[in-house]
Amino acid sequence: MNHNLYLQFYPHFERQPNKVLMDTLEGKRYRYGDVLTTSRKMASVLLELGVSPGDRVAVQVDKSPEIVMLYLACLQVGAVYLPLNTAYTDSEIAYFLEDAEPQLYVCRPAVLKEAQERASTSGVAHVESLGTKVDGSLMDKVANAPETEQVCEVAGDDLAAILYTSGTTGRSKGAMLSHKNLASNSQSLSEAWQYTEQDHLIHALPIFHTHGLFVACNITLINGASMTFLPKLDVDELLDLMPHATVLMGVPTFYTRLLASERLNREVVANMRLFISGSAPLLAETHEAFEECTGHAILERYGMTETNMNTSNPYHGKRRPGTVGMPLPGVEVRIADRESGKALAQGETGMVELRGPNIFQGYWRMPEKTQAEFRDDGFFITGDLGLIDEHGYLNIVGRDKDLVISGGYNVYPKEVEQLIDDLPGVMESAVIGVPHGDLGEGVVAVVVPSASDAISEAQIFAALKDQVARYKQPKRVFFAESLPRNVMGKIQKNQLRTTYTDTFT
Ligand code: ATP
Ligand code: MG
Repeated sequence: MNHNLYLQFYPHFERQPNKVLMDTLEGKRYRYGDVLTTSRKMASVLLELGVSPGDRVAVQVDKSPEIVMLYLACLQVGAVYLPLNTAYTDSEIAYFLEDAEPQLYVCRPAVLKEAQERASTSGVAHVESLGTKVDGSLMDKVANAPETEQVCEVAGDDLAAILYTSGTTGRSKGAMLSHKNLASNSQSLSEAWQYTEQDHLIHALPIFHTHGLFVACNITLINGASMTFLPKLDVDELLDLMPHATVLMGVPTFYTRLLASERLNREVVANMRLFISGSAPLLAETHEAFEECTGHAILERYGMTETNMNTSNPYHGKRRPGTVGMPLPGVEVRIADRESGKALAQGETGMVELRGPNIFQGYWRMPEKTQAEFRDDGFFITGDLGLIDEHGYLNIVGRDKDLVISGGYNVYPKEVEQLIDDLPGVMESAVIGVPHGDLGEGVVAVVVPSASDAISEAQIFAALKDQVARYKQPKRVFFAESLPRNVMGKIQKNQLRTTYTDTFT
């Protein structure tokens, strides 16, 4: 049997060639039939460039619908699709290209020449460009290419993609994802979120990350649904589209920005079925404020580059603010002791570990790292700390690497952050550990004050005094205009630790 993920999508292309699969704000419409034709031409171009099954196709280009066609073409010929963050600089790209050794690198038209020069030294066989206006050398080749219909035969464990992790805790690692990993997760999500071909998604996420690529595009393709592509987050554009859409997938920033708009109300969301959040923790306040304003409880889910999605709040049933819900069909979640890996009881905080058909095949060219991240019984050690609450919902309390150990005691940053966030005069906060002569690490809070009220370090100390054990209380509070975040809304605690590293020295 051919396990190619492409075959999960293909029946919709045959069945409904005239249905619009993707459209854009400029009014471009891509029917299923058009997408099939173009992706088949791209498949021919890939074959012509010597792309064989298992070869990597690295892509660093600005978001456009053509990327979806390139992704489909890669699947079709059995190549490994390898998207790269558009923010990566030249020297970062050099690392990724040397690490991945792609047969083909697709870059932005403006940097084609430099990329070609680099290719010769980085083990890259071919370089083509792809722009956002159906332009670039790849599209030139596609224009004259024949259509390839043949679909490469692959096994379930064969690689469909390599995605590099976001690099929040260190250097990005290439997560190897198989056809089965991706197919099983799309099926689970479709079931959990009751997705159908009637759904129309507002796609304003980057498309190089698991959220915008796999969660968003695969679920659309596997259901024969449709989506509008926005180049980036623009609140007014989201609101303009809502009357014609049914689903929004966003990172928490989408929802805080929507809440800041006077246009957000029950009427504008009347046609919407589902608001999904993930990639970073959604504050309970945001969840509650959004529900009050729109009548919609945001559905929060939890995933990683290495695993796709693992847990989700329920479609029917209570979506609990501040939690990431329950395991998706087929996914096992356990909380284990950080060191020993022994399973812990419900309510206890420990390492979140996962097993299931969604779990990746390992880190690209890092066999030792891969081995270190799996327990003997096959559970993947996520690096996230959490607990299963009394309702059976998973609560993520932070990352293992962000855990502060002060005087031998564990301080879970989220517990302290929540207390600080609840104080008047605080918009948000980040709690970190920095080197401390006596304690190993000292607790530091970085606080973003709210525009309306003022709050001082002394007031924060006083407010926490009777609320948490002394070792959890920050020893210093710093104020900042905003917290450093990446494009997925993840707070860059590494950066904060560097900034405040000399606090106690
Ligand atoms: P790196 O592994 O390179 O340090 P990263 O872990 O940030 O980077 P991703 O794979 O993009 O890279 O992000 C996965 C992580 O995002 C999870 O391990 C978790 O910490 C966080 N995350 C995702 N969804 C949620 C959520 N709903 N709530 C809390 N955290 C989340
Ligand atoms: Mg990670």
